[in-house]
Amino acid sequence: MEKNEIILKRQRSAELFEEAKQYFPGGVNSPVRAFKSVFGPPLFIKEGNGCRITDEDDNTYIDFCGSWGPLILGHNNEAVREKIVSTVARGTSFGTPTRLGNELGKLIVDHNRFIDKIRFVSSGTEAVMSAIRLARGITGKSKVVKFEGCYHGHVDSLLVKAGSGLATFGESTSAGIPESFVKETLVLPLNDRKALDDTLRAYAGEIACVIVEPVPANNGLLLQDASFLECLRLKCYKYGVLLIFDEVISGFRVGFEGAAGYYGIQPDIITYGKIIGGGMPVGAYGGSHEVMSHISPDGPVYQAGTLSANPVAMAAGYATLQQLLAPGFYEGQEARTRRLVDRIQHYADRQGYDMHLEQIGSIFWIAFTRQRITRADQIDPAGMEYFKKLHRELLLRGVYLGPSGYEVGFVSAAHTEADLDQAAAIMEEALDVVF
Ligand code: PLP
Repeated sequence: MEKNEIILKRQRSAELFEEAKQYFPGGVNSPVRAFKSVFGPPLFIKEGNGCRITDEDDNTYIDFCGSWGPLILGHNNEAVREKIVSTVARGTSFGTPTRLGNELGKLIVDHNRFIDKIRFVSSGTEAVMSAIRLARGITGKSKVVKFEGCYHGHVDSLLVKAGSGLATFGESTSAGIPESFVKETLVLPLNDRKALDDTLRAYAGEIACVIVEPVPANNGLLLQDASFLECLRLKCYKYGVLLIFDEVISGFRVGFEGAAGYYGIQPDIITYGKIIGGGMPVGAYGGSHEVMSHISPDGPVYQAGTLSANPVAMAAGYATLQQLLAPGFYEGQEARTRRLVDRIQHYADRQGYDMHLEQIGSIFWIAFTRQRITRADQIDPAGMEYFKKLHRELLLRGVYLGPSGYEVGFVSAAHTEADLDQAAAIMEEALDVVF
């Protein structure tokens, strides 16, 4: 009966999904959207306002996916929308420098002590790919160290033990990647100083860079010991290896200066995406004057893009980031998320449910164990069965989480305390069904 009810409610989404299968592989344009690891066909969303989204069957949900992180202000933020609309009215793309690009560049550089110069691209993947090329170009070395469970977009040599959609599908590497590329990638466990030191000591002469999500948020939320990240910084200096912070999720999310600011660590290159484009397709990478001087046309590392720094995307990014600079913005985000997380955690503890929530700033994750988890291999895949049930019970009651237990949730500025209390009450009910 319950299952029928879900199918009934998703009739229009189900029809659209069947149609989409004729046009797109698996019916989608990004794999995790296919709802492979949760119940039912994917929801086709037709609109979003504030913290709520509405699907084609007219169901409304409190949304904690936020388009996978970009929408820190919630859906359809008025100032962002108006800026986009007024920009579009003057044309969509010129393939030239624009004043809007300068404005966003200035806003970022002026308020981020960790970068002097930035280059805009069109996605997080592109930002990471370019940052890796830059590190190789500067050092003249080829190997890259990454950490198990960190996802850095679908960059060939980084699709190794990469979390995100790949964790969801139980694969560690994509087909279509030559062995020779994978050989250039060394994969280490997170939060393990010895493994790091051993590897750098043995291979430093071949390693161009270490790339890490300083807030690993694609394979659960694997919060690292600050001492591990500090050690990583010092070891990279010691062995002449560049350090890349992939802040596609954490950038402008855990603070305006991202994880670099949160932990007070200066990486050599930082990559951004998601929030930086205010819901439009933007990525970026930045670093010191010296590091960025190696990029074309100043330097020998080539990188370009037809739609790079697209004016509409620059406008959306500017209208978004400007709002994040309001005094107390991040403190408010953290406090409201803490309230949500604490309430659910207290309830789960009272009921004796085997779970806990991880949180940093406005990011949270539900782990189906009471142990703190800092490495990908500590996650018990059995927990994903709990998540699958929870996801269904939440949808039935009007809460939307990203459709994978490996993905984190995001609280936006549009989630009021009342919204979060409503979501917490729904979560409690859903957990009672799951456990
Ligand atoms: N790096 C991290 C940490 C990410 O979370 C993602 C996407 O989720 C990417 C890179 C790739 O970004 P995009 O999907 O915009 O290509």
